[in-house]
Amino acid sequence: MLKIQDLTVAVEGKKLLEHFSLEVQKGQVHVIMGKNGAGKSTLAKVLAGHPAYRVVSGEIRFLDQLLPDSVEERALKGLFVSFQYPLEIPGLSNFDFLKLALNAKRRFLKKKPLLSSEFEKLYLEKGALAGLKPELLKREMNQGFSGGERKKNELLQMALLEPALAVLDEIDSGLDIDALKEVAGAIQKLKGREMALILITHYQRLLNYLPVDFVHVLEGGRLVKSGGLDLASELEEKGYEAFL
Ligand code: ADP
Ligand code: MG
Repeated sequence: MLKIQDLTVAVEGKKLLEHFSLEVQKGQVHVIMGKNGAGKSTLAKVLAGHPAYRVVSGEIRFLDQLLPDSVEERALKGLFVSFQYPLEIPGLSNFDFLKLALNAKRRFLKKKPLLSSEFEKLYLEKGALAGLKPELLKREMNQGFSGGERKKNELLQMALLEPALAVLDEIDSGLDIDALKEVAGAIQKLKGREMALILITHYQRLLNYLPVDFVHVLEGGRLVKSGGLDLASELEEKGYEAFL
């Protein structure tokens, strides 16, 4: 599904990822852990196609093809990247935005766009699965949403777009323990058997509630260790310093 080979990424000449390789198969859940500033969000942004992050060398293949240049094309082909800090966008109806996004994808897949009434049914259904209260679904994008609600709104986008690969950047940050359990439960419900997931996180606690296949530790833009779930517990116990 995803094959990143020897990737080096720079912003304004500064290398933020170096010789980074990762392979993700259909349905797998990979976790990227690391301290603040390790390069985790850089990975998410370069996958999304953020223009400031330049691929210096290496390659990214997605679904057996080179990742297209355009952000739109990446999204249409089934890549989804959530924001670490989702923004509030006054004036943009959450409903209209997500309807447009889903219908753009449906057009790309040569499916008929959904009418508002058809979309509404799906929107409410997936909104409930993501754990968002119905009154929030009527608002403008993230308008007055708490941190946890914004994260759930990211999951609603994922639920509607049904990506082949979703990269969730610190979907657990800023959540209290109840919200964390809810978000983990929602991820589990929304992740189809085929969907692959890259979970970027700082803490091990989210992993207590989700099935995980691989854990990778990133430090200074380099992958320093990969392993199974036990690696996350080891990190929690010994701290990141033990791995450097
Ligand atoms: P993480 O998500 O692991 O906390 P980031 O990927 O956000 O880390 O950042 C990695 C490093 O790259 C940090 O030192 C950060 O300051 C730097 N960095 C990230 N984005 C930019 C940018 N657009 N311009 C300059 N430096 C950046
Ligand atoms: Mg980050």
